Amino acid sequence: MATKLDQLKKRLRTVYCLREASALLSWDQETGMPPGAAGARAEQLSALSEAAHDLFVADETGELLEAAGQEVQDAESEDAHLVRRCRREYRRETRLPRELVAELAEATSRAQGVWARAKAQQDFSVFAPELTRVLDLTRQVAGCQGYDEHPYDALLEGYEPGMRTSRLRPLFEGLRGRLVDLVRRVGRGPQLDDAPLRQVFEVSRQREYVQRLAGTLGYDFDRGRIDQSEHPFCISMSTRDVRITNAFDEDFLGRSVFGTLHETGHALYEQGSPERFLHGPLEGGCSMGVHESQSRLWENLVGRGRPFWVHHYPGLVATFPQQLSRFSLDDFHRAINRVQPSLVRVEADEVTYNLHIMLRFELELALLEGSLQVREIPEAWNAAMQDYLGLVPPHDGLGCLQDVHWSLGLFGYFPTYTLGNLLAAQLWEKIQSDLPSLEEDLESGNLEGLRGWLGEKVHVWGARLTPEELTRQATGRDLEPEPFLAYLEKKFGALYPA
Ligand code: ZN
Repeated sequence: MATKLDQLKKRLRTVYCLREASALLSWDQETGMPPGAAGARAEQLSALSEAAHDLFVADETGELLEAAGQEVQDAESEDAHLVRRCRREYRRETRLPRELVAELAEATSRAQGVWARAKAQQDFSVFAPELTRVLDLTRQVAGCQGYDEHPYDALLEGYEPGMRTSRLRPLFEGLRGRLVDLVRRVGRGPQLDDAPLRQVFEVSRQREYVQRLAGTLGYDFDRGRIDQSEHPFCISMSTRDVRITNAFDEDFLGRSVFGTLHETGHALYEQGSPERFLHGPLEGGCSMGVHESQSRLWENLVGRGRPFWVHHYPGLVATFPQQLSRFSLDDFHRAINRVQPSLVRVEADEVTYNLHIMLRFELELALLEGSLQVREIPEAWNAAMQDYLGLVPPHDGLGCLQDVHWSLGLFGYFPTYTLGNLLAAQLWEKIQSDLPSLEEDLESGNLEGLRGWLGEKVHVWGARLTPEELTRQATGRDLEPEPFLAYLEKKFGALYPA
């Protein structure tokens, strides 16, 4: 007779296999699907997601969870973590009435189309009625899921388990002033030249180069593949199949190189999940923020650092001799670290990026609290941009309409980008102290120590721990803004001497 825990795992295996099949269909949609298949594909995706959802929220799942919870004795065992994680998701999912889920799906699908049109027309008022509707439904979702202090907490919980508004506010407060100061200080000095990156770079060569680069970092092509899409992304169909995509810009080498480093960071985390977590709640990353820490660590802490390029720059020059042989390693290092306040988040550098996130966080809070009305968004957006970055968007397309997130109902998601940046720096500080030869290792192209550290302290845990537990276990303390600020101030103090 199988235990209740075994029965639960068997049921979850089916749920996860259905979700993974959906992920594969989504991957195909972004990379190779013929355009005529769009309608049929949407139906397939919705049928699969409904099947997975129904199976998961069924009463039997709840009963199995209850019974399995009693079977598990050791509260710190892997099985206990599995039950805990699953129970949290079960609670969140079952609290949402079916009609509300359907209404939200319908509203966001329509809002997406309208958002794209409004963005093209550079006019927020076109999108405002749709956003009002999505926001209203999102508020209802938060109400159903429940919270102790702030409705935003219910939304955060979906991306960053355990994170609360009351914890985010001081974290972000601690960042804001010093970031704004740093942006101003950098702006007073002579600007760095990114000319090395802004030349014509043949796309086929870029493709070959970044594929090799992903392999060098440890990306396992036996359990993954790299394709091209409009925006780069990483998607996991279990730890056995983790795919990434690249996007190329013939006139800007930075897009493919740093996009690849970023997505490979996500992929290494997914591929690093233990085999025994396959098709279950412990497989993959523990939160969006922790996931982003892995991508940012490779993209920025490693990939925008000089030691990494001591080893890799000659190979890059050999790939693009015509473009790069006249530029030194230091020219290149300066080019990839140019700081320039800009209107668009996805193009932002390490120093300004989190100010874009803070602006969105503050607006989302104000919207949920009701102190800001949807129609007032453009004005509030532009005022904050002026405050933080000294820029005012010429139109809404480059302002409050730039991100797709709100049309998808993804309120509470943006902060995870900043949490990832903070955690990446805090992990990096610990890695530096644990691996005294890190710098020389990077300079000689030896990534073993770094990969081993990340594997042991982060990847192998999958989704067992909460983000808070993982942070404490890996770095010895709670998440703080200081390591990130110290890293930025040191690095950019040197690159932009006063
Ligand atoms: Zn990412």
